[in-house]
Amino acid sequence: MKAAVLNNNKFEIREVPRPSLKEHENGAIVKVIGCGLCGSDLVKIRTGKAKNGTVLGHEVVGEIVEINTKTNFEEGDKIVLGHHVPCFNCIYCWGGNYSMCRHFKDTNIIPGGFAEYIYVSEEHLKNTVFQVNANLSDVEAAFLEPLGCCIRAVKRSGIEDDTKNLIIGLGSIGILMGQVVNCYGNKSFGCDLIYDRVRLSENYNFEKSFFIQDEETVLNEMKNYAPYGFDNVFLTAGSSKSLDFAVKAVRDGGKIIVFSSTKDNLAGFKNNDIYYRELTIMGSYSPSPMDLEDSIELIESGKVNVSGLSEVYPLAQINKAVNETLSNTIIKAFIKI
Ligand SMILES: [Zn+2]
Ligand SMILES: [Zn+2]
Repeated sequence: MKAAVLNNNKFEIREVPRPSLKEHENGAIVKVIGCGLCGSDLVKIRTGKAKNGTVLGHEVVGEIVEINTKTNFEEGDKIVLGHHVPCFNCIYCWGGNYSMCRHFKDTNIIPGGFAEYIYVSEEHLKNTVFQVNANLSDVEAAFLEPLGCCIRAVKRSGIEDDTKNLIIGLGSIGILMGQVVNCYGNKSFGCDLIYDRVRLSENYNFEKSFFIQDEETVLNEMKNYAPYGFDNVFLTAGSSKSLDFAVKAVRDGGKIIVFSSTKDNLAGFKNNDIYYRELTIMGSYSPSPMDLEDSIELIESGKVNVSGLSEVYPLAQINKAVNETLSNTIIKAFIKI
């Protein structure tokens, strides 16, 4: 079968062995229909974190073509999935930090979503695989996992009714995050350095989106909407600069939710800001099976609008998709297999 295999920070389309149920006791073989290109894939490509020979991709929509499990799934089912499964029985799982569970980190789909077929284990099928409603498009369905990540972040922020939330970064994740904030009965505000993204976000229910041309001017303008500052600030931009901005935009006693890595990992929050202003800084990483369950509900009910965000590329053009995402030419890529 064909797969996009990583080689020196680029993908190469190669013939690789098709996974088969013979190698595994039970599980399913899924024919991949398409797979979203995630920001975390881009980080792995850029930093060399993923070794040569890796098949990336985890935002899969596909069809079960072979199955041997004690589950209700059948051949022909159209599915979406989360690629990691927690053990539910370790110090991390007991504390609700499912994405820190070592079993979570060890489990995955094989070989990866940018391939014609993948193997999905029985424990995936039991916990992190969902059947897709026929009225949902493939591109929309593939938002299950990234939306699940946003739901986790919003839940972790302990969000209460009527809070004011600032989303820094209006890429696909920022736009999903704002909508999740709304679903939980709160107001979302957005900001970005890219004018077109600010305009685009206006179609997705933000109370107000700010174009950051000059930081001080924008912070002053924000005071008209959140005089004390924002209750919660979500960092989705992955730029070191946005940390300082988050500290200026959050209210005393507020929360900053870190949702992306930064390139250099040198930037940080200042001790005295946290102490004197009683700030809470927290991270949110990857979704739990319960977040995925909420995610499919929000997509299928249309409470979160995921249309109009993705451009579709054939597998052969996956490097073009990477470049156009990195250059901010597009918001999000969906690779059609
Ligand atoms: Zn993802
Ligand atoms: Zn665990």
